[in-house]
Amino acid sequence: MRMGVVGAGVAGAVLAWRVRQLSPQIRVDVYGGRPGAPDASGVSGGLVRGFESTRAATRLAVDSLTELRDDPVLLAAAGYQETGSVYLLSPGCDPTASLQVINESLPGSATVFPVDELRRRYPFRGLAADTIAVVERHAGHLSPERLRTVLLAESGAVVRAELVQRVDPAPSVRLAGGETVGYDVVVVAAGAWTPGLLAASGLPAEGLTTKQIQYSVHPARLPGLGSFVDDVTGLYGRPVDDGFLLGLPCDRWDVDPADVHPDADLVRQVTDQAGRRLDGWLAPPVRTVAATDCYHVTPGLRLRETVGGEALFTFTGGSGGAAKSVLAATRIAATDLLCDRFPLHSGESEGARVGSGHGPAAH
Ligand SMILES: Cc1cc2nc3c(=O)[nH]c(=O)nc-3n(C[C@H](O)[C@H](O)[C@H](O)COP(=O)(O)OP(=O)(O)OC[C@H]3O[C@@H](n4cnc5c(N)ncnc54)[C@H](O)[C@@H]3O)c2cc1C
Repeated sequence: MRMGVVGAGVAGAVLAWRVRQLSPQIRVDVYGGRPGAPDASGVSGGLVRGFESTRAATRLAVDSLTELRDDPVLLAAAGYQETGSVYLLSPGCDPTASLQVINESLPGSATVFPVDELRRRYPFRGLAADTIAVVERHAGHLSPERLRTVLLAESGAVVRAELVQRVDPAPSVRLAGGETVGYDVVVVAAGAWTPGLLAASGLPAEGLTTKQIQYSVHPARLPGLGSFVDDVTGLYGRPVDDGFLLGLPCDRWDVDPADVHPDADLVRQVTDQAGRRLDGWLAPPVRTVAATDCYHVTPGLRLRETVGGEALFTFTGGSGGAAKSVLAATRIAATDLLCDRFPLHSGESEGARVGSGHGPAAH
């Protein structure tokens, strides 16, 4: 069996690694062309935790975090730092179902803090009396850039530093140089470039779009604070070597990933909001990072069929959160491809389904 993966971001790279773990005899070509702008995996904030506002998203995040924490090789590859996480909930959000999922797999990691406890332990200002937060011990941040580089090298996939110009449901890929390469399966994991590549191929984007994400790094001292998300104000952040990374959601949709510019208004809003919300020392930003990610109407990094092709898929749509779910999402996608959709081609049987640990070719 031959599989072509378009895109060597964290989604494509980890998927290639998973597939080769499950079926080392499969030839996987990963097209790692650089369309000229930083990709999401190269600049991602890398915040990881278990808690998400839906049970399903929490499941993916928790399964990823559990696998990461249980595997010293993955831990080192990802450069994981366990700083803890505080997630201030929006009014009316009930965390019960998500907490249940976290505490099944990471017992004792997550606790709900009332406002008094939050005020006592963390440098937050202006918390309403009914504010609650999910506080996790086993959470922090990782480097998607390192994770994709290490796992791609370890996967044994053939990395072709070429741009794919179009994909065909046959399935095949057409390279910028004019060559067409046929496969048994093609997976488009081109992140924010995916809708454009589908359009160039005459295929509908089917619920996929792009959105800018941006953060700034501020010289700051915010004692006691690790990774945090504040769903009341939208502010999020984490410590970095030279200060604190801080961001607010950006409202630039349908952005061309090759043409991203920092939004100066948003930089000011972050500085203002952080000044109001955080109690510590905070200076204006020393740098701002802006890039795009691929969003889907039903958010989540998963394998999606494309119109007109039973062997041409997209694997994107992480919607600003794939760093925290990529390990579990790739395990599900690889199992789906090799055990359910193409078991005869891949030489895999039901018995080879990827479990919660590593397959036979694990590092
Ligand atoms: C600024 C920012 C901060 C973020 N912070 C967090 C966070 O804190 N926590 C979290 O969980 N998630 C975060 N995310 C989201 C997460 O990082 C992304 O969801 C994830 O990295 C997406 O990976 P990807 O592989 O799908 O896309 P990308 O990393 O964008 O990779 C796509 C790859 O495809 C390649 N490509 C594109 N077109 C072609 C072509 N035609 N031929 C060949 N190759 C092609 C590109 O060069 C690129 O390498 C953040 C994202 C951004 C942008």
